[in-house]
Amino acid sequence: MDDNIPAIAGGTPIRENKIYYAHQYIDDADIKAVTDVLKSDYLTCGPAIDRMEEKLKKITGAKYAAACSNGTSALHIVCMALGIGEGDEVIVPPITFAASSNCVLYCGGTPVFADVDPKTYLLDPKKVEEKITEKTKAVITVDYGGQASPLPELLDICRKHSLKLIEDAAHSIGTVYKGLGAVGSVADVTTFSFHPVKVVTGGEGGAITTNDPEVYSKALLYRSHGITRDRTFMEGESEGPWYYEQTGLSMNYRMTDIQAALISSQLDKLPEFKARRQEIVRMYDEAFSKIPGITVQQEIPESDTARHLYVIRVQEGAFEIDRAGFFDALVKENIIPNVHYIPVYLHPYYRHLGYAPGLCPEAEKIYREMITLPLFYSMTDSDVSDVTEAVKRIADHYRK
Ligand SMILES: *Cc1c(COP(=O)(O)O)cnc(C)c1O
Repeated sequence: MDDNIPAIAGGTPIRENKIYYAHQYIDDADIKAVTDVLKSDYLTCGPAIDRMEEKLKKITGAKYAAACSNGTSALHIVCMALGIGEGDEVIVPPITFAASSNCVLYCGGTPVFADVDPKTYLLDPKKVEEKITEKTKAVITVDYGGQASPLPELLDICRKHSLKLIEDAAHSIGTVYKGLGAVGSVADVTTFSFHPVKVVTGGEGGAITTNDPEVYSKALLYRSHGITRDRTFMEGESEGPWYYEQTGLSMNYRMTDIQAALISSQLDKLPEFKARRQEIVRMYDEAFSKIPGITVQQEIPESDTARHLYVIRVQEGAFEIDRAGFFDALVKENIIPNVHYIPVYLHPYYRHLGYAPGLCPEAEKIYREMITLPLFYSMTDSDVSDVTEAVKRIADHYRK
């Protein structure tokens, strides 16, 4: 492993012989990019932000890009920009990080959960259509694990019902939907996250891309308090060079130039990140196809995927142990997996809002069986075979 790798995502130091489910990769170019900013005049709102946004536009093919503090604020900004409010329903998948639906609640709207496809774990367009009412304003789709969502079908549904399609691409920077374009240029608006477990990191960080100038200008407004210094958006007359106006209500959701420089430097490595992740996925797919009782996430052929998560399912009833037992057995093998995700509506906060188990049966079944295995750029081939051998050993030992 590279000497520059400092600490496991989440702050736990890497311990000898343990392979964690995710890890950032930081090289000398990244460190130089950050120290260059530290020696410059701007730590925030400076030129590194513009450079990072330009790079993101190039990679995604989107007309506009706005950096912000993290993937969660990106989703909140987007919901504000689209005018989501009380009485509005937004359709979301349940197998995701809570931020994907919390953003609707921040705005006073109602998340409506639609089930996922049992093979791809992506939002199922047919289930989306069943959930549309006269209150539906938007659909948030999640590129689970890095795969592109079924974008043509979702776009068709959204156009037919005059809904906005928001793509939560926290997992899928670098993914291309063949024939349609890169993630970030296809949906009405796309959000990204640069948390250390994701494919590209800034420590923390987020971004919004869109081809819609109105959504873009509102995103700029809502990433910084609802304040504008742009004369075209002011309601009154300028009173002098100091003058600005608050025309909306938001928070400080800005990214620092330090983060932007790190993200820019990481984006330069995205092709290599993507290729290595694809290589590891191929090795995993090959190994697990030979282990009865273990299934893997199916790739949709149209998605040229920069894979973020590698998830296996431990089929219920196939082994003497359940998912939790399988998870513990992996930890004993020094492999530290994770589970992505607990269906959002099963969390106590959502239960108190009235959501109940049984809402999305496919998602609940996937959740009961899933385990996220290690997948990160700096994994060696021998790390990969350590993981596949451990899964095989455990499966063979406990198979009924
Ligand atoms: C990580 C993640 C987010 C939130 O991103 P942060 O940068 O951590 O705020 C949102 N949605 C999904 C699907 C994620 O995985």
